[in-house]
Amino acid sequence: MHDFHEQLDELTRQSLLRTRRTVSSAQGPLLTVEARPYLSFCSNDYLGLANHPAITAAAVTALGQYGMGAAASALISGHSAAHETLERALADFTGLPAALGFGSGYMANMGVIGALVGAGDTVVVDRLSHASLIDGARLSGASLKVFPHNDTQRLDQVLARCGSGRKLVVTDAVFSMDGDQAPLAELAEVCARHGAWLLVDDAHGFGVLGPQGRGSLAHAGVRAPHVLCMGTLGKAAGVAGAFVAGDRDLLAWIMQRARTYMFTTAHPPALAAAATASLAVIAADEWRRTHLRALVAQLRKGLAGLSWQLLPSQTPIQPLIIGDNARARALMQQLREQGIWVPAICPPTVPRMTARLRISLSALHTEEQVAQLIEALVQAEQVMA
Ligand SMILES: *Cc1c(COP(=O)(O)O)cnc(C)c1O
Repeated sequence: MHDFHEQLDELTRQSLLRTRRTVSSAQGPLLTVEARPYLSFCSNDYLGLANHPAITAAAVTALGQYGMGAAASALISGHSAAHETLERALADFTGLPAALGFGSGYMANMGVIGALVGAGDTVVVDRLSHASLIDGARLSGASLKVFPHNDTQRLDQVLARCGSGRKLVVTDAVFSMDGDQAPLAELAEVCARHGAWLLVDDAHGFGVLGPQGRGSLAHAGVRAPHVLCMGTLGKAAGVAGAFVAGDRDLLAWIMQRARTYMFTTAHPPALAAAATASLAVIAADEWRRTHLRALVAQLRKGLAGLSWQLLPSQTPIQPLIIGDNARARALMQQLREQGIWVPAICPPTVPRMTARLRISLSALHTEEQVAQLIEALVQAEQVMA
């Protein structure tokens, strides 16, 4: 018998116990948390759309038409006109031939990998890939190989040594804990040479990067039949759900085989309608991306003199490396006492001794709010040093 109580105590001793805070306001730069106001740098709401009136209104209208629940899986009777419209809009928006909706990004990755490869095949993953890609690779039954972060030469060597089965390479486009980007053009080229598919997880690039926010593949100018794009709709799009886009035949096959598509109730139609409305806002509001880039530059300039280093990221994910778990938590706590909420991310989510404050910026942050964070960090460093 496991003694979970003892194990929980051990996590507490190592400063690794995760806890939740209860938020009682809508999402945005200012949150009400347990009756106190906080300036938040926590969320993935990069464009500030999680509480956008046009998107909420689209959901309300769709609730009137469809009601709340989808009531069945997509392949039985759960696929509504709202879902169909969203999938067409997603294909259009990404510039790819077709798109297929999923309940979440986690489910999309689990489903797509298992649909494409199995026993006798090989999945090759970047070492810093998101947990859902690793889990999907493991569950698929294919042989799992890892290549060093963003190292296309080593990937080339790994692929050259694969057996005769099918080959699938998976990577984040924007790495979720570091904020850096994968070399997508080179990856696509290496995969093409070895007859491998490339699944790009664009959870953090979709809406933020590329012309009109069309994502990391558009940003890199990569478009090929062997490249699939997974995007989430719960981050920059501000809603919920996810999609996979790419070659029509590949997607038709995924719909036949992805277990996380087949054996789950379809997403509420109102969420699909909200996501469609969100795509229109993402494409139209260039000012959100322009302002976000300015905030990233402001933060990086303001923190340049600290002994704690920001990782070299150009995206709204700006991790400040602290090192020690307890120190990262203490810094988080100190900011929290000043009403600023930035999450500390500790192992096993990130490698040992790289505990960090993961600062996320949103287009709804003001320059004054970012200046407040910079000032608080500069002061905290003096106190803690
Ligand atoms: C958040 C995230 C996911 C999961 O997406 P959800 O829609 O939240 O389930 C997958 N991949 C990456 C890289 C992510 O950051």
